[in-house]
Amino acid sequence: MSATAENTFDIVILGGGSGGYACALRAAELGLSVALVEKGKLGGTCLHLGCIPTKALLHAAEVADTAREGEQFGVKTTFESVDMSGVNAYKDEVVGRLYKGLQGLVKSKSIEYVEGSGRLVAKNTVEVAGRQLVGKNVVLATGSYAKSLPGLDIAGRIMTSEQALFLDFVPPRVVVLGGGVIGVEFASVFKSFGSEVTIIEALPRLVAAEDEAISKQLERSFRKRKISFKTGVKFAGATQSGDVVQVSLESGETIETDLLLVAVGRGPVTAGLGYEEAGVTVDRGFVMASERCQTNVEGIYAVGDIVPGLQLAHRGFAQGIFVAEQIAGLNPPVIDEMGIPRVTYCDPEIASIGYTETQAKEKFGEIETYDYNLGGNGKSQILGTQGFVKLVRQKDGPVVGVHMIGARMGEQIGEAQLIYNWEALPSDVAQLIHAHPTQNEALGEAHLALAGKPLHAHA
Ligand SMILES: Cc1cc2nc3c(=O)[nH]c(=O)nc-3n(C[C@H](O)[C@H](O)[C@H](O)COP(=O)(O)OP(=O)(O)OC[C@H]3O[C@@H](n4cnc5c(N)ncnc54)[C@H](O)[C@@H]3O)c2cc1C
Repeated sequence: MSATAENTFDIVILGGGSGGYACALRAAELGLSVALVEKGKLGGTCLHLGCIPTKALLHAAEVADTAREGEQFGVKTTFESVDMSGVNAYKDEVVGRLYKGLQGLVKSKSIEYVEGSGRLVAKNTVEVAGRQLVGKNVVLATGSYAKSLPGLDIAGRIMTSEQALFLDFVPPRVVVLGGGVIGVEFASVFKSFGSEVTIIEALPRLVAAEDEAISKQLERSFRKRKISFKTGVKFAGATQSGDVVQVSLESGETIETDLLLVAVGRGPVTAGLGYEEAGVTVDRGFVMASERCQTNVEGIYAVGDIVPGLQLAHRGFAQGIFVAEQIAGLNPPVIDEMGIPRVTYCDPEIASIGYTETQAKEKFGEIETYDYNLGGNGKSQILGTQGFVKLVRQKDGPVVGVHMIGARMGEQIGEAQLIYNWEALPSDVAQLIHAHPTQNEALGEAHLALAGKPLHAHA
């Protein structure tokens, strides 16, 4: 089949999730012709099965806790129950509104949106629904799927986040397999909704990618919230009978539960899509791409979760925009992976950027750290939350890591990312005035202390 003008584009993008649609929007803005191929729903995992619906659940969880804890603030509230049909209606409405907005945005940019399952059939061609779309450039953006473990079938009461987002009941008991970001977020939701929760994690600590101090504080807070967790333990298997799941550990221990949530990470969606046949280097399913998001095949780029690194929506957005600008000849600066902010929305929230203390020691040798306890922060005390802001700086140099934990601390990541990405010295930040009483002050106070002039800081 020869390429016709209506099937030829400057860019053909396979996958309409965060990475793919961001690339399409930016490319269209830059005057490039774009085809965007999507087999499911525009917006992908983040909008439909990830960031947005989980954060809606977490907000409902916060409302439940607020109702429970009113008395603590002198307000007489009682918590009755969680009505999952109401929670789901609220969540679906949020997703639906954003979905509609995104569809309108793509339509308004004269992007050729092609529905169907696409496949790379040549280095410049994606075949979809009997059409061959030829691109001067092709962008692979097919995202990721929820993994399981060998021998662990996802069915019935054994589920991944994908099914857990649509539960129509609150399970009395939940075992969460995996203490990473998705695992602790769901654990937090289930606990607030009234479930008895146990997290099982093979690594020695929860949220093991974070600074060790953050894991310790999260574990302390989860203990206080009566969320059980077992770290450094290996899962052996699970069996289901009726609505009950028996989870066994390698230690010989078994745990009976009403739901097993498998949150053991996400694998790349690349199998059977023709990538390797087109000559693209794929390693354990991931597409290998340079810091300029280029694969080893000229004209083929890759963005988002299929590229090894942080699996985050805003990384996908940034890479998508980057590739569109790269193709348009704007020569954008490469993305610093360490400069990508990370937020985990459990209660308490975790927000971090840059190097952990351990990573910084390895990378820079001599470093200094400072922990500012939220005990000295007025707004955090008003909210009744505990936690800290931890700074890591190169000795006599810029701040290279900011690690925060506490209710609502995710909102503080904006300033933290400026500090890291602009390579600020503690003294640069110390002279900026932070509004009182905000949690943002805690960031200011931590820098004041590290600059040698602490204010509300207890040694
Ligand atoms: C439970 C959960 C919570 C999360 N929370 C957050 C969060 O709070 N913040 C955050 O930053 N990130 C979060 N993430 C991660 C975020 O969702 C992903 O990093 C992001 O969606 C990756 O974007 P992507 O474009 O690479 O892939 P995806 O969003 O997965 O999009 C890929 C798209 O490609 C399509 N596709 C695949 N194969 C084909 C094909 N052959 N033909 C056509 N189309 C195809 C898929 O249908 C999909 O729409 C969360 C993820 C999960 C699962």
